[in-house]
Amino acid sequence: MGATLLRKVWDAHTVRRLPTGQTQLFVGLHLIHEVTTPQAFDELRRQGWAVRFPNRTFGTADHIVPTRELGRPFRDVMAEQMMAALERNCRDFGVPLFGLDDERQGIVHVIGPELGLTQPGMTIACGDSHTSTHGAFGAVAFGIGTSQVRDVLASQCLAIEPLEVRRIRVSGTLQSGVFAKDVILEIIRRLGVQGGVGFAYEYAGDTIDRMSMDERMTICNMSIEGGARVGYVNPDETTFAYLEGRPFAPTAEAFERAKTWWRAMASDPDAAYDDEVAIDAGAIEPTVTWGLNPGQSLGVTGRLPEAHTFPADQRPGIAEALEFMGFAGGAPIAGTPIDVAFVGSCTNSRLSDLREAARIVRGRKVAPRVTALVVPGSHAVSRAAEREGLDTIFRDAGFEWRAAGCSMCLGMNPDKLQGRQLCASSSNRNFKGRQGSPTGRTLLMSPAMVAAAAIAGEVVDVRTLGDRS
Ligand code: SF4
Repeated sequence: MGATLLRKVWDAHTVRRLPTGQTQLFVGLHLIHEVTTPQAFDELRRQGWAVRFPNRTFGTADHIVPTRELGRPFRDVMAEQMMAALERNCRDFGVPLFGLDDERQGIVHVIGPELGLTQPGMTIACGDSHTSTHGAFGAVAFGIGTSQVRDVLASQCLAIEPLEVRRIRVSGTLQSGVFAKDVILEIIRRLGVQGGVGFAYEYAGDTIDRMSMDERMTICNMSIEGGARVGYVNPDETTFAYLEGRPFAPTAEAFERAKTWWRAMASDPDAAYDDEVAIDAGAIEPTVTWGLNPGQSLGVTGRLPEAHTFPADQRPGIAEALEFMGFAGGAPIAGTPIDVAFVGSCTNSRLSDLREAARIVRGRKVAPRVTALVVPGSHAVSRAAEREGLDTIFRDAGFEWRAAGCSMCLGMNPDKLQGRQLCASSSNRNFKGRQGSPTGRTLLMSPAMVAAAAIAGEVVDVRTLGDRS
């Protein structure tokens, strides 16, 4: 019987099994940012400890970055303190930092892959839930909390529970106007936001095989929204082609040797899985969330759920979500007016995402009462998009073109919803208060659907607009 990638990578990085049943796992790459590290570094100082492997640790600034005005000091005193602490900690402990004046700065889950730091067969940890993104490369990557950040800084190891593996086979051809974001929203809708607890999700099938690395990252990014701490795709020629020539990827002969090892880490054809699920890609519509978690979604041609048609135990949750959102059960989601359109976040802020949104926007105008912004995931994405003239397309349409950062994905920087504003967002979370206003409302969708909503001023089926490329 063969082994899954998860098992192979896990075994290769196991230091020992702990009496608790956990594994002490060596962490190959530790990515850090300003929010979850200050206390961890403080503890290292108190204990007189060094960072065990500064050459396996890389820092960037993303969550608190004001994407409109990058000048220092930041107006927000707390944000300035966090940024200054990250700079001081990286300097004192010898950790490379891609700061605001560095061309390599950006959202941690965008720059890791972009720089070639993220590679197949690695274990990767970061103090952010969406670290699962890096699994797109065949890495075992997971989010950790601040105390675990301290553990990894001090020891490069982590005590972690073993995971089972669920293979999710996605087969068939996606309809035009349907993207990786729609696929992962459909998976989470089908399996539930808790369905992946205790599992790593292995994404497979011919639909995934044909996807670009950007698309695979979108899929793996939202694994955690389905409860799976880890999500991955087996490495293949698409993975290797993406990595070749990246600044931190091996070169020449070392790259060829690495490829041999990376291939060997992929799941064996006869690997056994703890669970398997099949998804028909051709049946997926452009998808929109309507509620308070990413599993509460529907196809754009669908109607909102009516609580009374559900089993008794589900009714209160559905009723609460509808009430918070101000929606009437049974109404169509299409036609829902929006106030804000946000293209960005580690789920969908890469060059291909911006291109898809620009195809919709080109030659059109943002609806008069809509505030629309595009926030590239990194400096590099920003520069590449500007070279293609995407910034001009967005600006001409009435979008704001911002500097790289997490921006409106979460309320930790000046980009926040106001009051009950409703935001069409390409990000990954739609909880109450996620975008900075306790009463603000979020509809998750693909970047193309966000662009279409910005133009129409309401939720609209992107397939009815057509692109202008
Ligand atoms: S973009 Fe959003 S989900 Fe991604 S790292 Fe930033 S805050 Fe977290």
